[in-house]
Amino acid sequence: MSDPLLMIPGPVVLSPAVLAATAIAPPSHVSPAFIERFGSALGRMRAVWGADASCRPMVLAGSGTLAMEQAIANLVDPGDAVVVVNTGYFSDRIAEIASRRGGRVRSVRAELGASVGADTLRAELAAGPAPAVVCLTHVDTSTGARVDVASLAAVAKEAGALVVVDGVCATGGERAHMSAWGVDVALTASQKAIGLPVGLALSVVSPAAWAARERLRMPPSLYLDWTVWQPIFEAYEAGRPSYFATPATTLIPALDVALGELLDADDGPSRGMEAVFTRHERVGAAMRAGWAALGLDLLPEAGAEANTLSAIRLPEGVGPDLPARIGKRGVIVAGGLHPSIRHTYFRVGHMGWVTTQPELLLRTVEAVGAGLTDAGHAVDVGFAAIAVEAALDG
Ligand code: PMP
Repeated sequence: MSDPLLMIPGPVVLSPAVLAATAIAPPSHVSPAFIERFGSALGRMRAVWGADASCRPMVLAGSGTLAMEQAIANLVDPGDAVVVVNTGYFSDRIAEIASRRGGRVRSVRAELGASVGADTLRAELAAGPAPAVVCLTHVDTSTGARVDVASLAAVAKEAGALVVVDGVCATGGERAHMSAWGVDVALTASQKAIGLPVGLALSVVSPAAWAARERLRMPPSLYLDWTVWQPIFEAYEAGRPSYFATPATTLIPALDVALGELLDADDGPSRGMEAVFTRHERVGAAMRAGWAALGLDLLPEAGAEANTLSAIRLPEGVGPDLPARIGKRGVIVAGGLHPSIRHTYFRVGHMGWVTTQPELLLRTVEAVGAGLTDAGHAVDVGFAAIAVEAALDG
């Protein structure tokens, strides 16, 4: 049997070109070839994020949580008010990070699976002390719910706050335009829609966020400090060697390849990031059509569903061993994550390179259907496959 297909919401299957780019002898961080790739990757991050030339990209060795820590450590002083738009497990995480930094954190909590509307946030901001920072989770991977970053960021700006967006399950997949939307720190991890292995904490920082860092009273820990890293990244972009702490030299050339693939996307009518966003929207809709044809309900409410993953309720009589049954059919999916409802749903990732591979998407829906049938819940897998194909073609 072929290798199982990994369809969890990160890490994801790599494109052949990215996989090949990771299979190199580790380069020196000051070799000319590495410097060139790193400089190129930093410039491409701005393009993928939709960030102006005045924004600063940051690449640290670490996972997405490190990027969350870094954003908060550079923007929040003890005693600062922080508002977290809370749509699940990862919003809880940034709230915890901000409160450990000494921030006075208020959460605007959505029902699990729901989003938070602009009016709700506006009312919350008016009700308490003006926050220094508003944190949004673009897609909360624990609920599969997506928030409308553009409208929430606009409300936060009206209140004079900086906007931090956790895009770990979104950046490079869900439509986003950092500068046009007024986002101040847009962060992600390498192992999701960017399409790399785990290991890079990626953020882009706006000039307003940079100015706030310069006013900060309690400096961040050394490894997290934007002002320590900035001269290093500036040097790499200028083609000069530089060193503060050893960068992830195997992953960074692959990052350049992965970002290049996104920017070169060509789906006929649209190109570049527009093509990537449209493709994820089409694939998200196609997967939802497949789940509906299998008679499955989603956890996120209508209109709030992410395009990068599906969080799917277990049907009556089917237990949390469903992912294991699907695994036996050759496709790895994830169980529930949010502690309060963990055993009531499962999750399927559909972001990155797999969105260019209709047969892998079909294989996934078919394996879910077979797993349900194995669990004693018979479904019409052929009908679901037709629904997915029709939505992909439409
Ligand atoms: N935020 C979101 C939305 C995530 O999905 C994740 C990881 N699943 C994280 C933050 C944390 O990232 P990491 O596991 O890479 O530290």
